[in-house]
Amino acid sequence: MAKVPDPVPSGNEVLIKVSACGVCHTELDEIEGRTPPSRLPMIPGHQIIGKVAGTGVKVRNRKKGDRVGVAWIYSSCGRCSFCLGGYENLCPEFKATGRDANGGYAEYMTVHEDFTYYIPEIFTDSQAAPLLCAGAVGYRSVRLSGLQNCQNIGLTGFGASGHIVLQIIKYKYPDTKIFVFARSREERDFALELGASWAGDTTDNPPLLLDSIIDTTPVWKTVIEALKNLKSGGRLVINAIRKEEVDKASLLKIDYSRHLWMEKEIKSVANVARNDVRDFLEVASRIPIIPEVQEYNLEDANLALTELKQRKIRGAKVLVI
Ligand SMILES: [Zn+2]
Ligand SMILES: [Zn+2]
Repeated sequence: MAKVPDPVPSGNEVLIKVSACGVCHTELDEIEGRTPPSRLPMIPGHQIIGKVAGTGVKVRNRKKGDRVGVAWIYSSCGRCSFCLGGYENLCPEFKATGRDANGGYAEYMTVHEDFTYYIPEIFTDSQAAPLLCAGAVGYRSVRLSGLQNCQNIGLTGFGASGHIVLQIIKYKYPDTKIFVFARSREERDFALELGASWAGDTTDNPPLLLDSIIDTTPVWKTVIEALKNLKSGGRLVINAIRKEEVDKASLLKIDYSRHLWMEKEIKSVANVARNDVRDFLEVASRIPIIPEVQEYNLEDANLALTELKQRKIRGAKVLVI
């Protein structure tokens, strides 16, 4: 733990007294150098819930005492073609909370008021925190899949993000059939329990070809398998920050006519836009999606990160401050 002066909000910034901050795999990526902070020292944490404790002179839409959240998108320029076209997540000046600006592993933080979100009352602070990252990104991946009601969608990989994505799809597209590809029997059983129409191993053939598939795995084998299972014009959305090198050779199995011909597409998901966070919180409160959480004191942040790395996971890890 380090002592740093409390930040002071300027202009359109609000000062947030942090009450909960989710612990995310991306923090390990930051610490271990796969997506390094743009300067050091940096306070990590991008799934933040707290109360507005102070406001800059230009703040118009937030007031002291408001309960708000802050997600991965800390700021974007607001002027470039991406920002103006609804793709602020791709802005060249995109700043990430806890990587390019101090985040929520702290008692206080500041952020532009427009990059805060009201939190539906149904969630406690700790329950809301983990929704701000995996849930919002999962929501974006469903949006990017172009899914329409009645179409058939596949999910390859069925971890925490997959569970949330399945529930979003069932709620927003009730007549859509969901096909889950997962390695473990438990994951497949759980998928069926949550309402998947079919569940098989990563290399199993689904009973029909799919309109779109969302891949949340860190490997390449699933990409080849998924392309094979898409119908003409189908789209594969890769929702993973990085793919590992271990099985990259499986890409050599690609067969143009079988895997790509007939206008099949591959699209990745990068960052989140504010409407993903806003819309997902709304949908999550209606379904509702209430995450299981495991709480840690701020002083135990390193313990929480170490356990995450060792995959000692009993619910989403949240620092309570
Ligand atoms: Zn995250
Ligand atoms: Zn921009």
